[in-house]
Amino acid sequence: MEKLRYERPIIKKLNVGFVNKFGTQAKNEVVTNIEGVGVKELIKEYGSPLFVISEKQIRRNYQHASRVFKTRYPKVQFAWSYKTNYLNAVCNVFHQEGSWAEVVSGFEYEKALANGVPGSKIIFNGPDKTDDQLINASRNNSLIHIDHFDELYTLIKLSEEFHLKPRVAIRVNMDTGIYPKWDRFGFNYENGQVWTAASRILNSENLNLVGLHCHIGTFMMESSAYAIAASKMCQLSWDISEKFGIHIQYLDLGGGFPSTNTLKGSYLPGTDTVPTIDQFADAITDVILGFGFRQEELPLLILETGRALIDDAGFLLGTVLANKRLSDGRSSTIMDFGVNSLFTSFWYDHKVTPAQEGGQYTEETVLFGPLCMNIDVIRENVLLPLLKKGDQLVVHKVGAYNMTQWMQFITLRPNIVLLDQSSHPHLIRKAETLDYLESVEIVPNHLSKNQ
Ligand SMILES: *Cc1c(COP(=O)(O)O)cnc(C)c1O
Repeated sequence: MEKLRYERPIIKKLNVGFVNKFGTQAKNEVVTNIEGVGVKELIKEYGSPLFVISEKQIRRNYQHASRVFKTRYPKVQFAWSYKTNYLNAVCNVFHQEGSWAEVVSGFEYEKALANGVPGSKIIFNGPDKTDDQLINASRNNSLIHIDHFDELYTLIKLSEEFHLKPRVAIRVNMDTGIYPKWDRFGFNYENGQVWTAASRILNSENLNLVGLHCHIGTFMMESSAYAIAASKMCQLSWDISEKFGIHIQYLDLGGGFPSTNTLKGSYLPGTDTVPTIDQFADAITDVILGFGFRQEELPLLILETGRALIDDAGFLLGTVLANKRLSDGRSSTIMDFGVNSLFTSFWYDHKVTPAQEGGQYTEETVLFGPLCMNIDVIRENVLLPLLKKGDQLVVHKVGAYNMTQWMQFITLRPNIVLLDQSSHPHLIRKAETLDYLESVEIVPNHLSKNQ
């Protein structure tokens, strides 16, 4: 008979049947499958940890947001924010649904082209565009969103030298009542910088000013901020038309809508506090429709929504490595994934559910990752049933920013699986290997293998 394990007992209050802060009973939600595919089967087939993305949920999110805006405003275009999740399979779901591409770097631009997005449907944002990238984007008729005067002067110079007619927009930053202000990108509205930029563009021979852009923040909890932004964008577009006699074809209100994740330090869960897409759409479209544009001159409304469209389509599955009592008696559990894979655990209290029944007892637990680093904490405090080594957990709403911001630190990045619309799994990114990692390393001769 196997020897039973013994651990010295401690006296600790367990919560069972207690009411939580909402006056309801904390119940142990168990999630055994994703879109009907068993968590255990997925881990068996693809290893642990494992990212899983639901194609169905992405399409559902996109179609919902698109409908919400299109039923309120006649001309709407979404552009997928590549940096939010630039796995090609994910981008292509958005492109199939009708999304353009919104990119903020040269390699993202190349990715969008290679995904078959026509140059004219790529929005090139960000403060870092090289001369070659500007020339290339101009030749492809892409929408170049100018971030600063140095970029503006460079583009004017390049357009003369290479006979280019780039289509450009001005990135505008402004006070929308949200602090700290996001004023490091683009040209300021209140101090008139944006007006100077517009004049320079319109007095240049070759630049074609077609739009105005802003991206006022991320995980925005106030729809009213978008009403202020929309109003300032309309005013600017109006003033530019009046003064220069040109028509601004589009207003790009950027991204920033929150997902239903819970920000660290929030008292209430995100599902209860986050405004709906409808509220944002109302705030934006009411202002534009009421501004006084003639019907045929209404600008195209572009949205670069990222996290709100993908967060709840992503799951991270993982396995318990060990349990441990901390010095103060708290329970802790070490998982096989850490903050290197789950970067968003720095700002979200992610929902975590066991993948198997674990009884009715729950205990407040610290969830650690496997890294040899003190800050490797997935959840500082989460109510979980007692877990054993080998048990599995599901982390919810991890689709945004993790698969782009993750770090290759101590452990290699895991497999990513996409469940298609009939829940059939497809491996869309292979787990990294030591060979992959070292394929970019070069060891000088005198340091190569010790004999
Ligand atoms: C990151 C980014 C987005 C997407 O932001 P979300 O907060 O994920 O919606 C859109 N536009 C620009 C310019 C960005 O930098």
